[in-house]
Amino acid sequence: MTFREDFQKDGNRARRGGSGGGRLAAGGGIGTLLMVGLFLLLGGNPTDIGQVLGQDQQQLPAGQEQSDGFDNCQTGKDANENVDCRVELTGQSIDKVWERVLPEQANIQYTKPGLVNFRNTTMTGCGQASANTGPFYCPGDQTAYFDISFFDTMTQFGGENAPLAQEYIMAHEFGHHIQNLEETLGLSNYNDPGADSNAVKIETQADCYAGIWAHYADDDPEFGLETITDAQVEDAVRTAAAVGDDNIQKRSGGQVRPDQWTHGSSEERANAFLTGYRTGSMKSCDTLGRGVYK
Ligand SMILES: [Zn+2]
Repeated sequence: MTFREDFQKDGNRARRGGSGGGRLAAGGGIGTLLMVGLFLLLGGNPTDIGQVLGQDQQQLPAGQEQSDGFDNCQTGKDANENVDCRVELTGQSIDKVWERVLPEQANIQYTKPGLVNFRNTTMTGCGQASANTGPFYCPGDQTAYFDISFFDTMTQFGGENAPLAQEYIMAHEFGHHIQNLEETLGLSNYNDPGADSNAVKIETQADCYAGIWAHYADDDPEFGLETITDAQVEDAVRTAAAVGDDNIQKRSGGQVRPDQWTHGSSEERANAFLTGYRTGSMKSCDTLGRGVYK
């Protein structure tokens, strides 16, 4: 339980992504459009993403996008009881934090990203996505995509399927939207990996930005959370560590190869989240060394 029970929904937030029966965009598809996810499987060959995104294409039934606005999700109590509602209310909480923090600390006006909560597969501005893709942000349509069944699979990596862990994952993807607004997201290139790569700097910064959300949302009526407990922080930290490149390389049976890293080590990711959480300061998340934050 992370939300204050009386926290009220302020308009609909997430869109329901249905099974998209359509094809990838002509002449393009995922290979040509950058997307940034929570992790990269198998040591970081971006063509794998294309395969993951495209693989179910032939088997899809014709589907449709629904947009029912999750009307059953109205309060923090709903968010505590129902994962779909948690996605909905967490999106709202992250928006509210960045509406305040981004202008204050970076002198940039916040605009909300799209938020899609889908099952199985959905069409995106970056091609077709499935649950196997994991959560990701597509800069092409400025939208964060989540299939809540993914949250269960976090335990297979050694993460936690717990509310603050789920919220960390969402806040990480919204962090990429912040980077898009800062016009730094394009520096990330999964084709150019390595422990010191821009890809790792962008990903660990998104973890730090997720921590900033938690810093402000903690025990705050406007941003919606109860006091965050040490155990909840541990859930989020363990999950950040679980999606570290070294852990993923080990668990997929390979060697730990820092030259292939795109998202940072378990230790780096956990520390990045904690840094944002403790400070609430974009300056403390300045992995790119830009020196532009207040
Ligand atoms: Zn990411």
